[in-house]
Amino acid sequence: MEAGRVVPVLWIQGGTCTGCSVSVLNAVAPSVKDLLLEEVLPGKALSLRFQATLMAASGELALKVLKGASESSAGGYLLVVEGAVPTGEGGVYCVLGEKEEGPLPFKEWVLELSDKAMAVIALGTCSSFGGIPAAWPNPTGVKGLKELFEENGLKTPLVNVPGCPPHPDWFVGTVLKVLLYGPLSSEELDEYLRPRDFYGMRIHENCPRRGYFEEGIFASKLGEPGCLYFLGCKGPLAHADCPLRKWNNGRNWCIDAGMGCQGCTEPGFPDLFGPFYEKPSEFLKGLETFNGCFTCQTCTNVCPVVSQYDDPKAHLGLLPHQVMVLCALGQREKALEAPMVWRCVSCFQCQKFCPQKVRVGDVMVELKGLLAKRWRETAKGKPPLVAKDLL
Ligand code: SF4
Ligand code: SF4
Ligand code: SF4
Repeated sequence: MEAGRVVPVLWIQGGTCTGCSVSVLNAVAPSVKDLLLEEVLPGKALSLRFQATLMAASGELALKVLKGASESSAGGYLLVVEGAVPTGEGGVYCVLGEKEEGPLPFKEWVLELSDKAMAVIALGTCSSFGGIPAAWPNPTGVKGLKELFEENGLKTPLVNVPGCPPHPDWFVGTVLKVLLYGPLSSEELDEYLRPRDFYGMRIHENCPRRGYFEEGIFASKLGEPGCLYFLGCKGPLAHADCPLRKWNNGRNWCIDAGMGCQGCTEPGFPDLFGPFYEKPSEFLKGLETFNGCFTCQTCTNVCPVVSQYDDPKAHLGLLPHQVMVLCALGQREKALEAPMVWRCVSCFQCQKFCPQKVRVGDVMVELKGLLAKRWRETAKGKPPLVAKDLL
């Protein structure tokens, strides 16, 4: 990085609708013009050498630029990959130009250009995880970049910036960080190689409708006030800062517009997160991870609600690990009686630290949603909010 003031950027597109490009063009601070034409940081500028949607050149001429730039700047350019990589039948379902023997698969471009890049950004959910092109039955054998890198032993630093489409700030912020400090460290990325700065929280944690969830007020149709959990909101599962950042220069975002979050930043989207307006059945099946609990109590030890009390059992009835054990024993109704379920604040610390990958926090959200709904439906009135006795 130190060597050059101008960092060449090569941006290639495979299995994509080009929505990621369009989204990034909406960048506001800095604007895409400043990003591409001005000094974007003191002493640092980007030089976009190849971007098929924006460049005037096409065909052979454009590909010559791509090849030339990758050779002259080997080891020093930033590669942006938009769109998924079809790998079936040798990658023939998506090609970019030709070589002597015939069409040149996008997959080969990705492997060759990634190998010579300083760092690679997988822009969008398709490029990061396969996304919509990889949806079942995935006849073209689409893969995301992480999988492709692992299969081919590529060691170039990779950052995933998923989203369908991704927010322009997520991309611009990631690029600027790479320019400032070089490739992101493993501490700055989550297990799916997403920058924690933008994906380190769940939608549910900062949702403006969260108060409704806690009070058990659920919308029964779109347009109503209330939490959208039972209308298919995937906010408790999805990682992104949309509620704080919002979209279109801070104007609006999915939940403020009345639509539940669809989990578009997650691996497994869309298959595991559908249908749009129902709870994600495929994903919820996976909740049975509680069967793997070996009662180490780590979840209980890291729970901030448990640590509020000198005698937590007396106040909470059950502790998080005991809730998991009861679920594993098929005693969900018993678990639902425990004040612990209601008092869980959905911080997901338990889930983060569980050595058995039990989805403790997800189970708690599901139990609490059921409980709150039941409370309302059985006309017991308001659920017993706990703020008072937590203090
Ligand atoms: S379930 Fe969705 S709408 Fe309800 S609080 Fe969570 S993120 Fe918001
Ligand atoms: S941390 Fe995981 S394995 Fe340990 S008690 Fe909790 S759920 Fe069970
Ligand atoms: S998600 Fe709930 S149970 Fe888990 S640590 Fe946070 S408050 Fe405790």
